[in-house]
Amino acid sequence: MQLSLIVPTYNEKENILPLVERVHHSLSSIDYELIIVDDGSPDGTAEEVKRLSSTYPLRLIERKERGLASAVVRGFEEAQGEALGVIDADLQHPPEMIPQLLAEIDKGADVAIASRYVAGGGVEDWAASRKIISKGATLIAHLSLPSLRKVKDPLSGFFLFRKKIVEGINLEPRGYKILLEVLARSKVQGVAEVPYTFTKRERGKSKISLKEEIDYLRQVVALALSEDLWRKAIKFGLVGISGIGVNEGLLFLLTDTVGLSEYISPIPSIEASIITNFMLNDLWTFSDRREGSWLRRLAKFNLTMAAGAGITYGVYSLIISLTSIPYLIAMLLGIVVGFVWNFTLSFIWTWRKRPIRKDA
Ligand code: UDP
Ligand code: MG
Repeated sequence: MQLSLIVPTYNEKENILPLVERVHHSLSSIDYELIIVDDGSPDGTAEEVKRLSSTYPLRLIERKERGLASAVVRGFEEAQGEALGVIDADLQHPPEMIPQLLAEIDKGADVAIASRYVAGGGVEDWAASRKIISKGATLIAHLSLPSLRKVKDPLSGFFLFRKKIVEGINLEPRGYKILLEVLARSKVQGVAEVPYTFTKRERGKSKISLKEEIDYLRQVVALALSEDLWRKAIKFGLVGISGIGVNEGLLFLLTDTVGLSEYISPIPSIEASIITNFMLNDLWTFSDRREGSWLRRLAKFNLTMAAGAGITYGVYSLIISLTSIPYLIAMLLGIVVGFVWNFTLSFIWTWRKRPIRKDA
């Protein structure tokens, strides 16, 4: 399997020679091409690459724009290999690990990540603040992108993968975290993580800035909106709002027009809204998970909704009896907790997803 290794560079002149040598030495028995994507470095990085391209299997792509992720995506487009890899130019990613990562791909993994956050991995020489930012960013990824929770280091900048997993997929190259984009958009199953230590930068300077942190948050939001869980949660919430309309409308009709007692009319009103909510969720929110009996799902939904209403009421009464929080706010908090309950049970029980066993 041929490997195309992509290296984004911006002002890395002094790192090019040691990088190219170490890569070449590490990949002596591997068919590979090294694609260096230079963001118009003013320090002469591109000239240094050209100088070495007669000796090594090197290709230079010169760009005018800046940006790590977009440079890497450009490299993907030019790559010939069946396996693609990304490594920084500054040797903070040890090239000697590439054969190990490639071995994971050969064994069947779709993505092989050099991971700082599995046992045996780590970072050298990072200030506490950078450690906290990195861990915090990883936590944000895990919280917002549930499908990636099993990947310990989804923000690693050093990884290999099978080219076919990104074919036909639109990667949005924003910021630094291209692995996150690959993992989230390609929905891969077989991910292997190999521990390594992110070493100290010996030459040149880091280009990371506040802009990359902000870009990262924007990237996470964009990816989260494409995640099944959040899409379903949003649809479920919209259906819930329609249910409030059904409930209130019927309550008014039965009480004011029909003349039922206001202690009786909520019962059919609430049940009607549960039924319309069920139908909308069944046809729309969970349309991809309609399995087995329709009546059974309706019964489950009724049950969880009743419990959810009880929870909303319980939270509401607890807050007003124990705190001085205004009752309208207390009700909102109760609704939030009830919503989380209703959605969670719907997601994991009423419209349960059939387990797929494909983990590696
Ligand atoms: N890089 C790039 N374009 C940019 C910013 C960075 O090609 O606009 C390259 C940089 O030359 C290096 C890699 O991306 O090879 C990682 O950047 P850096 O070392 O600044 O990130 P850090 O290690 O501090 O996270
Ligand atoms: Mg670096």
